[in-house]
Amino acid sequence: MGFTIEQTCPQCGGAIELDETDHLLSCPYCGVKNYIFAPNYFRYALPHKAPNKNIIYAPFLRFKGNVFFCKDMSVGHRVVDIAHVGLDLKGLPVSLGLRPQAMKVTFVTPETEGTFLKFTLKASEIVDRAGRLSSGRLSDQVLHRTYIGETMSVIYLPLYTEKDMLFDAILNRPIAKLANGDEAFEPFIHKNPKWDLTFMATLCPQCGWNLEGDRDSVILTCANCDTAWEVRQGAFDRIQHKVVPGRNPECVYLPFWKTSATAREGVEIQSFADFIRITNQPRVLGKEWDNAPMHFWSPAFKIRPKVFLNLSRQFTISQKTYHSEEGIKGKRLYSVTLPWTEAAQSMKVLLASSTLTKNRVYPYLPQIRFEVGRSELIYLPFMEKGHEMIQEDMDISINKNSLEFGRSL
Ligand SMILES: [Zn+2]
Ligand SMILES: [Zn+2]
Repeated sequence: MGFTIEQTCPQCGGAIELDETDHLLSCPYCGVKNYIFAPNYFRYALPHKAPNKNIIYAPFLRFKGNVFFCKDMSVGHRVVDIAHVGLDLKGLPVSLGLRPQAMKVTFVTPETEGTFLKFTLKASEIVDRAGRLSSGRLSDQVLHRTYIGETMSVIYLPLYTEKDMLFDAILNRPIAKLANGDEAFEPFIHKNPKWDLTFMATLCPQCGWNLEGDRDSVILTCANCDTAWEVRQGAFDRIQHKVVPGRNPECVYLPFWKTSATAREGVEIQSFADFIRITNQPRVLGKEWDNAPMHFWSPAFKIRPKVFLNLSRQFTISQKTYHSEEGIKGKRLYSVTLPWTEAAQSMKVLLASSTLTKNRVYPYLPQIRFEVGRSELIYLPFMEKGHEMIQEDMDISINKNSLEFGRSL
């Protein structure tokens, strides 16, 4: 379950509520859109109820995403949903529990008053521990584990001290006795934190037209000059995209990432023919595939892990080449909610789940290395039919509910 962020519109000051997965702040009062950017990750503060106290904020790692793991010759997946304490200080709760869901948080900005404690534990270790617990028994031999499509942020819990007691500033309740009073915090205090939050005007860098996207989009598009943009380091960066035109003007275009890659160490994949041989697909290969580069496909939108893997596998194994163009004007584009960097982490899982002769691939999973080449965003036409979205060329269908549900993942 996600949580709600309260934010005022930088243009008109109107109060807006955002979801944890939102990037685009769209103001219902003045109509202005802003893309919210923070280096690394967003930082939020839980609201305190101790107005006359010096507030001390303790960091918690918020992680919500899917962990995929390969063991016992199969691919498994679980949801990891945690808000785990980020420093080793006696008296702090290990987890925020349901608190972020029970109240609205705000972004931490340079104006947020209070003392911030440093995040001293290793975020990757916290996530890995949660991932290991989700992947079955700790003693199981997991050959590969990866996290795909996660949202990661830091949530600060407000505290204060009174005499030698540490108080929770939300409930105004003592939570621990401090042996050395305030001194206990000294080594953890973050001196001069500068956590800027940038609100970027969503104008096309190439033509100045309004960029389009939904609140959870990670790619914005310009229908005026047919371009697609991703925010990297606080600026819009152009990405390569293609649209495969549908026969029916009513169709909806779902986005997919297509990435060329080769694999070595353990298995050798230099071409699509290598992939077909190694995964032992029942498919007759023409000579031309020997020199065809290998492309990994995956949805560019969040969706249940099982559907994500199925779609990735179907498109990757078929390795179809489509007639495509750049034009997006007047087309119904479905939002890109999964960045390429996330999709790129699925290659090993995809290889494992595609292979029909498990022992040719599984034992080598730990050492396999991928060399990633060019990536492209491909919009494929789907037709709505009842509860399904159908890709006619591929005879692939996606349940509309699972698309809707995927957005809350
Ligand atoms: Zn506004
Ligand atoms: Zn443009």
